[in-house]
Amino acid sequence: MINIKSLSLAELGAWFEAQGQAPYRARQVFQWLYQRGVRDFAEMSNVSKALREALAADFHLGALETAQIQESQDGSRKFAFRLHDGHVIESVLMPNNTQHTLCVSTQVGCAMGCDFCMTARMGLVRNLSSGEIVQQVVEAARYVSEGRFIRNIVFMGMGEPLHNYEALVRTIGVLSEDMGFGFSKRRLTVSTSGLVPAIRRFGAERVGANLAISLNGVTDAVRTRLMPVNRRWPLAELMQACREYPADNRVRITFEYVLIRGLTDDLADVPRLVKLLHGIKSKVNLIPYNAGPDSKYQAPSLEQARVFQEALLARGVLATLRISKGQDIQAACGQLVQAGRRNAPRARAAG
Ligand code: SF4
Repeated sequence: MINIKSLSLAELGAWFEAQGQAPYRARQVFQWLYQRGVRDFAEMSNVSKALREALAADFHLGALETAQIQESQDGSRKFAFRLHDGHVIESVLMPNNTQHTLCVSTQVGCAMGCDFCMTARMGLVRNLSSGEIVQQVVEAARYVSEGRFIRNIVFMGMGEPLHNYEALVRTIGVLSEDMGFGFSKRRLTVSTSGLVPAIRRFGAERVGANLAISLNGVTDAVRTRLMPVNRRWPLAELMQACREYPADNRVRITFEYVLIRGLTDDLADVPRLVKLLHGIKSKVNLIPYNAGPDSKYQAPSLEQARVFQEALLARGVLATLRISKGQDIQAACGQLVQAGRRNAPRARAAG
C-alpha cells in the first residue's frame, strides 16, 4: 500500500483518471489531507463512498505515532514521532507570536558526522520518504491553536536534506501545492552541511526553496575538524558553488555559523568570514553553541557572541544572532537525537 502523502497533486490526479474519474477530484482530496488533516478516508464527505473505498484500498494516510511531546519554557514543542518500522524522528515547533516555525527531519540519523551534533552519533539509519516528511507538518499542525499558523518550514532536523534529494524535492512540491498547505517556497528553507554537487543541482533545477549553508568554520582546518564533509568539498569549492548559485535578486543564501568558545568565536575570524562571503548575496545566522552535559565543546559567552555579530555588521554583513529555542528540552540546533540512541488543522500556511 502506498502512502498517499508521498503523491503529488498530478500523480493523484492520474490515479483518479485511471479510475475513470475527473482528475480535479485530487484537489478535493488534497484539501482533506492537508487543510483538514483527516485521519480516515471516511471523513472525506464530498467524495463518493465507492471512491473513498477505492482510495483506502490503494493508499494509507501515513499517520505517525506521537511517541512523546516535550514542552519548553519558551513555548517550543519537541515531538518524537514513531515511524511504521519503530524508528523515532524528531520535529520542533517554535512559536513566534501568531506565526510558528516547524523544523522537520529528513532522515533517521545522519551520515555526515558533524562533530558538534547529537544526531551524528546515530549514523545514518535510513532516508525518510516524502510522505513521512510531509506528515510531520500534518501532525504538528494539530498542536497549533486557533488564530495561529505554521508560517515557515525549515529542513534542519535530523538528517542532511540534500542527502535525501528526491524525497526532499517531492516534499517541497507537496507542501507548496495551493490545494494543500499552500506554503510559499520562500517560507521553506533547506539547510545543508555542504554537499556541493547537490547544491548545484538544487539551484539548476530551480526548486525555489531558500538555501542555508551550515558553515561553522572559516578555515579548512577548523571546518574539517567540525564537519568531515569539508574534506570532500572544502571551503573554496563550497563557496564557489554558492557564488554560482542561481538565486534571483530577492534571495539571500543564509550561512549558519555556530559560535564555539575558543574555536569559532575569535574576532580574527570575522575578516576571514567577510572574505569568504565576498560576491555572495548572503546573511549570516550566528548560533551560540548549545553545550550539553557530555559536550566536548563550550558555549561562547553571550557578550562574545554579540561582539562577533557587531563586528560583522560593522563590515556590512547582514548578521543575526539566534538564541536557540527549546534548549531546556534538547530541541535546539544540533541536539536532536533518537531517544534511546543517545547512550547506546490548523494546517494551512499563510503563503
Ligand atoms: S549537523 Fe546536520 S548534517 Fe551535520 S550530522 Fe547533524 S544532522 Fe547531519
